[in-house]
Amino acid sequence: MKAILTQSLPNDKKMRPDLFQAPDYYLLDELLSDEHKMVRDAAREWVKREVSPIIEDYAQKAEFPKQIINGLAEIGAFGPYIPEEYGGAGLDQISYGLIMQEIERGDSGVRSTASVQSSLVMYPIWKYGNEEQRMKYLPKLASGEFIGCFGLTEPDHGSNPGGMVTNFKDKGDHYLLNGAKMWISNAPFADIAVVWAKDETGRIHGLIVERGMEGFTTPETHNKWSLRASATGELIFDNVKVPKENLLPNKSGLGAPLGCLDSARYGIAWGAIGAAMDCYDTALRYAKERIQFDKPIAGTQLQQKKLAEMITEITKAQLLTWRLGVLRNEGKATSAQISMAKRNNVDMAINIAREARQILGGMGITGEYSIMRHMMNLESVITYEGTHDIHLLITGLDITGIPAFK
Ligand SMILES: Cc1cc2nc3c(=O)[nH]c(=O)nc-3n(C[C@H](O)[C@H](O)[C@H](O)COP(=O)(O)OP(=O)(O)OC[C@H]3O[C@@H](n4cnc5c(N)ncnc54)[C@H](O)[C@@H]3O)c2cc1C
Repeated sequence: MKAILTQSLPNDKKMRPDLFQAPDYYLLDELLSDEHKMVRDAAREWVKREVSPIIEDYAQKAEFPKQIINGLAEIGAFGPYIPEEYGGAGLDQISYGLIMQEIERGDSGVRSTASVQSSLVMYPIWKYGNEEQRMKYLPKLASGEFIGCFGLTEPDHGSNPGGMVTNFKDKGDHYLLNGAKMWISNAPFADIAVVWAKDETGRIHGLIVERGMEGFTTPETHNKWSLRASATGELIFDNVKVPKENLLPNKSGLGAPLGCLDSARYGIAWGAIGAAMDCYDTALRYAKERIQFDKPIAGTQLQQKKLAEMITEITKAQLLTWRLGVLRNEGKATSAQISMAKRNNVDMAINIAREARQILGGMGITGEYSIMRHMMNLESVITYEGTHDIHLLITGLDITGIPAFK
């Protein structure tokens, strides 16, 4: 291998040039409209130009690269399917998915920021908010002037969010919010948080909490080995006075946050394909160049088995996700169908990352290549937005009618 080690280069130049070529084994481009391809290609070029050269350095530093926020807004990653009157891109569900795929091809942490902003903050304000709330927040979120976060998970309630203890009391002219959320993406620097809390009757509602409200703090969670280029933190509410106009009025109950998760999980199903494509493409190129025993390792049956299985799994995931996108565009996709795609595609991606890492041998563990970063990122992606197990139980419930959660 003509390995040109780059130890002498500054940190932000250590990753190799981005030579990504997207696999399309079943000519799925033929199923896409010109608009889909245009949106996807713009996102792909932007990731190559703005994300790939810097992301390894930010992941190593465990820091979110805030300078890419404007670019994310420009490629339509903040509210791809939110109507243009609210500042969104007004695109369909396939375009939304393709944008998530391309961003996660760069890094799952960057895609997480875009997913949270679009599906967990803009979506509930658009769907469950009133017109004043939409006009106040959505254009600023779409442009990246505001960054949002979504507080559902609590220290003692992860897979079972319905058990949450965060609550608010009606104090006449305001609500008094108390409790704590943890594992919240974007929390350390978010301007607003969509927070799920119980009222005095135990019913769950969404509240918009703004940075600067007294008693509201967002300590950062450190020492993550995964999603290092995404900021994660807690949301602490200590007698926070929330104005009454900040309650999302149009939907309550656990179905409200779960509706947001449907939209985010759908984006993750596409995003995971991006991470898998990057690992496959890197491993294929490496295997063709790396000579051992006087021939490229790509010419060995063992490595061909790995690569052939990768492209097969990517192709299956692409078909599954494209069909799910069509169903979403027609308003027919069920939550259980979305669970199946999220679960399948993230599992597919993490397995491909592990195999691809091995194809690169020792080089696979370095930050010169993206594979190890993808692999570690996917450990979060397989856990958040419903764990691998929980999505299986959702499919189990859907096909048997019997919940096996308890
Ligand atoms: C990096 C990162 C970012 C995140 N971002 C956000 C965010 O922005 N907003 C937010 O609200 N949350 C966020 N989360 C939280 C995430 O959604 C939760 O971690 C996830 O839902 C799992 O909850 P838990 O970690 O408490 O695990 P637990 O619920 O304690 O689960 C532990 C294990 O038990 C299994 N398990 C649980 N219940 C059952 C059952 N009934 N049957 C069988 N097995 C079961 C699970 O599958 C898992 O393997 C984030 C998490 C991470 C790691």
